Formats: sequence, structure tokens, C-alpha cells
Amino acid sequence: MKKRLFIAGHTGMVGASLLREVVRTGSYLPVLATRRELDLRDASAVKLFMEEQRPDVVIFAAAKVGGILSNSTFPADFLYDNLVLATNIVQASFQTGVQRLLFLGSSCIYPKFAPQPIPEDALLSGALEETNEAYAIAKIAGLKLCAAYRKQHGVLFHSAMPTNLYGEGDNYHPDHSHVIPGLLHRFHAAKEGGLPEVAIWGSGTPCREFLYVDDLASACLHLLTLKNPPDWINVGYGSDVSILDLAKAVARTVGYEGRIVLDSDKPDGTPKKLLDSSLLRATGWSPKVPLEEGLGRAYEAYKTARASGQLRAV
Ligand code: GDP
Repeated sequence: MKKRLFIAGHTGMVGASLLREVVRTGSYLPVLATRRELDLRDASAVKLFMEEQRPDVVIFAAAKVGGILSNSTFPADFLYDNLVLATNIVQASFQTGVQRLLFLGSSCIYPKFAPQPIPEDALLSGALEETNEAYAIAKIAGLKLCAAYRKQHGVLFHSAMPTNLYGEGDNYHPDHSHVIPGLLHRFHAAKEGGLPEVAIWGSGTPCREFLYVDDLASACLHLLTLKNPPDWINVGYGSDVSILDLAKAVARTVGYEGRIVLDSDKPDGTPKKLLDSSLLRATGWSPKVPLEEGLGRAYEAYKTARASGQLRAV
């Protein structure tokens, strides 16, 4: 009999990709709830849902996420919502006998000046980047909560820390989105409108590592097959790119030929954020989608979503 897998947050970019991968591989029976059916911030509703549905395995892909501006403008929302989601889902999973839970965090849990590439043991070795501290603190708490339940109760609750993600189903809000959807949207609009230049935020010098969301989904299903996974493990692509070079790649993807200028009033954030994913690679997983290909796929998904009125911009 197939195990029942609850994908918490299956309508988000990561959850939707996980669902596609579960359906494609036929590896689990998916257990799902839309936001209207279940408010994950409501502890008793989450417990009731888990009691009724009895999932064997849970992947925690629900989060309040946003780009650098959104994170620094709404720290209370990012900290509160993400803490509550983590405590509700972990506690309800434990109470209803879930055998295995995979908690998803983010590479921003690591200190601003962590050694690069960032190994797992850099956690809590220094101060965090201020622009996303609230989100990072909630994700560190979630990770530690899983590790504590594992230690105290012997349940297999563990975590994965993906690098910056992008792909189908991303959020394209002009201010609140992450850099790739933000740039895809801006370069597309500039091309359509015949604009001579596009501004990118900050100095263009920060470096980021990007992973196509479908690669994260395959990594998650792989992690669920490991007998004794580490409490948390990095999931990265393996190389990074400067924001200026990323912008040039986005311009090529979109077919925009105007100038790229810098909007230096906007923040840069952490100077570099490249994960050391050697621990995961050693378990037999590697990413499949290079950046240029992923940008092409993301752009196609963007145009399709736009044409059908389904574009997320929240
Ligand atoms: P971060 O990795 O948490 O800093 O999140 P982001 O994806 O929001 O930003 C990554 C980097 O891209 C930062 O240095 C931003 O200043 C830069 N950037 C350049 N243009 C944009 C844009 O249009 N939107 C966003 N979100 N970031 C941009």
C-alpha cells in the first residue's frame, strides 16, 4: 500500500512542484487541503484535519515568503506566520502519529558572513542578514523544533534548507517578489513597452545561487528515502551568479536588448549566499536544470499564467 503524504502548502510554488513530482513518480497518495479548506495557522483545525486524513508522511512546504523588500517591511508577519505554521504542523504531526516529516526552510538561516560555500554547521555561528532576519528566525525555530522532537520522541522529523528557488508558479509581484520573477516581469514589460532601459536593484554585485523548483521537489522525495538523514541538509545547485550577470541572462531569455542600469537606493542584502551541498550530493542526488534552461522554463510558465489570468502577484 502506498503511504499517504500530506503536502502542506501544495498551492504554493514548492508544494505544486512536489505534487507534480509525486503524481509523476506515483510514489505516494497525496493528501491535500487548499487554504480555504484548512487554515494552517489554526492549530485545532490542523489537528482535526490530520486526525481525519491520517497521513503517514508530511512535507512542510507552507510558508509566508517574499523578497528582500517584503521581508524587511513586514517582519512581524514573516516571523509570526512562519512560527505558527511550524509549531502547528509539527505538533499536530506528532500528536497524530506521523512517522516522518520533512520541514523546508531556506538558506537565509545561515549567518550573513558564513564561510562560502556555506556548510550545514555554520548554523548559529554568527549574526543574520538584517533584511530577512524575521523569516530566518522562524525557519531556524522550525528546524530546531523538528530536531528536538526527533531527539526527545524518536520521530523522524528532519529538514531541508534550499537555496534561492525559482520556477513555475512563482510570485510576480513587482515589489514583493524575489529577484528572478521580479526581473522576468520587468524585462518582459520593458520589451513589450519598448523601454530603452531596465533598472535592477542594488549594486548588481551580490551573488546568489538559484535552484529550479522541480529540482527541489526531486531532492525532497529523495531525502524521504534516506534511512538516517541529518537533522538538516542543504539543497543547492552548486554554483552562483552575480545579480548583474543574472539580469543579463534574464534579458537574453526575454529577448530584451535595451540597457541595464542600477537602482542603488534599493538594498543589496547579503553579499554572497552559496550553499555547500556536498552532504546531499554524497547521498546520490544532483540537480538537473541549469540556470539558462530554468529561466526559459520559468518565462514560458510566466507567459502561460499571464495569458490565462492565473499569474500570482501577491
Ligand atoms: P535575497 O536573496 O533574500 O536577498 O532575496 P531577493 O531574491 O529578493 O534579492 C536577491 C538580490 O537581487 C538582492 O541583492 C536584490 O537587491 C537584487 N535584485 C535586483 N533586482 C531585483 C528585483 O527586481 N527584485 C528583487 N527582489 N531583488 C532584486
